[in-house]
Amino acid sequence: MARTEKDSWDITESVGATALGVAWSRALEQDSDCPLFTDPYAKMFVDAAVERGWQLPPKYMVERIKAIGGYAASRTKWFDEFFVAAGANGIDQAVILAAGLDARAWRLPWIDDTVVYEIDQPMVLAFKAETLNKHEATPATRYAPVPIDLRDDWPRALRDAGFDASEPTAWAAEGLLPYLPASGQDLLFERIHELSALGSRIGVESFGAGFFDPEYLASRREKLQQYRQEAGEEDAENVFDVEDLWFNEERTEVTDWLADHGWEVTAIAAADLMDRYGRCAAGEADDATPRTIFVEGHKTR
Ligand code: SAM
Repeated sequence: MARTEKDSWDITESVGATALGVAWSRALEQDSDCPLFTDPYAKMFVDAAVERGWQLPPKYMVERIKAIGGYAASRTKWFDEFFVAAGANGIDQAVILAAGLDARAWRLPWIDDTVVYEIDQPMVLAFKAETLNKHEATPATRYAPVPIDLRDDWPRALRDAGFDASEPTAWAAEGLLPYLPASGQDLLFERIHELSALGSRIGVESFGAGFFDPEYLASRREKLQQYRQEAGEEDAENVFDVEDLWFNEERTEVTDWLADHGWEVTAIAAADLMDRYGRCAAGEADDATPRTIFVEGHKTR
């Protein structure tokens, strides 16, 4: 399961399967009594993957995913609102980095003539297209998939797909950064900065020092182990943990990087965001709540 420099994956493998985990949690939210958003596509992706032989997460992971359900729903809602606000401010070009099974191009109310570019690994986007085509789903706006690894020359692929760097862009990086090495994260932001006209915006789920704090990670592992035992999966020493796919390295804080490069930055901690959406009371985040920060940047100079 260890990551390598040029690894690639299909939707049911390695980092690809994390996109399925997110789709699965969105499908659960969609089915809940009071969902924060509507995503009818999430279940289509899960069902299509199961048809391909993907096994739903083991019981202990189900517990984990349920425990962070409020987090995952709040995160989706925050990025939905980010794009809607960008559109309300006239931005009609969006780039979703590591889009996975994000269905925003199909389900959000985009302003006229918006083009949504999605970057992800070729096999992930192929699975997505195949599934949506099978269900005759049509995007709610102009849609341009850009199948490429984010460690390759994606700026060139994006331009080749029609991206216009002279126009303001709304960028999103949701559920991406731990899967890039620290140097890859820096390069990603340098490239975004170069491609961003004045007025561009960016929404980032940031995994900084708080997230990679060894004590926090140890308590997270302990909790997973507890779920395993409660689920009767005591022999699960070798069971997959998404942490195995992360590059656990010291990283530049996204807020600092953006501010240092002239972006105006606002940020909200995950627990406060969940409070905003009624998914946990302020100051009461439990140890299942990832210690991430939701960062919004506006390029003003
Ligand atoms: N942003 C999506 C969402 O929230 O639904 C997907 C999040 S999923 C946790 C991580 C995604 O990052 C996967 O779809 C994976 O393929 C993509 N990804 C990670 N590293 C990547 C890379 N180097 N190049 C392209 N895609 C990558």
